[in-house]
Amino acid sequence: MKAVVALGANLEIPEEAIELALGLLREATDVLGVSSFYKTKPVGGPPQPDYVNAVCILESDLPAMDLLHVLQGIEKSMGRVRTEHWGPRVIDLDLITYGEILSKDNELTLPHPRAHERAFVLQPWLEIDPNAHLITHGAVSELLAHLPAGQ
Ligand code: ATP
Ligand code: CA
Ligand code: CA
Repeated sequence: MKAVVALGANLEIPEEAIELALGLLREATDVLGVSSFYKTKPVGGPPQPDYVNAVCILESDLPAMDLLHVLQGIEKSMGRVRTEHWGPRVIDLDLITYGEILSKDNELTLPHPRAHERAFVLQPWLEIDPNAHLITHGAVSELLAHLPAGQ
């Protein structure tokens, strides 16, 4: 099944953190495509450095929860410590969609519950898949076109 994963980092050298995370993802899954890296302003949380964001599309046979645990294992191995909500982080890996799975579980909500309102997810996703859509909210191109200015 195809998964869409959003990567974000804003500590140390964020581009290197994203490259490293992609390398680790390639060891666990079949990464099919990676967007450019986007420099973005932090949304929510405390004052913190700018982010670098990217999106990748990968193929995996893992059950959804196992794929989430792969992502969390990579975060942990790269030294992510959970402190403040939406605080700065060395790496953040969010599972945006996985096949057509719908889940309302707090531990794994699919599609990701805030992806539809985040330009830093939608823009890189659209770059690598012009037909990208969220089963909950529709075409990514439409969602992006209707986001409030400045996001
Ligand atoms: P946001 O979810 O708004 O992007 P965040 O990435 O900073 O915020 P985290 O602290 O990384 O949030 O994750 C909080 C919890 O979200 C994790 O414990 C994880 O189990 C849960 N979670 C639920 N759905 C997903 C998903 N689709 N992808 C990644 N984590 C998820
Ligand atoms: Ca996130
Ligand atoms: Ca996360």
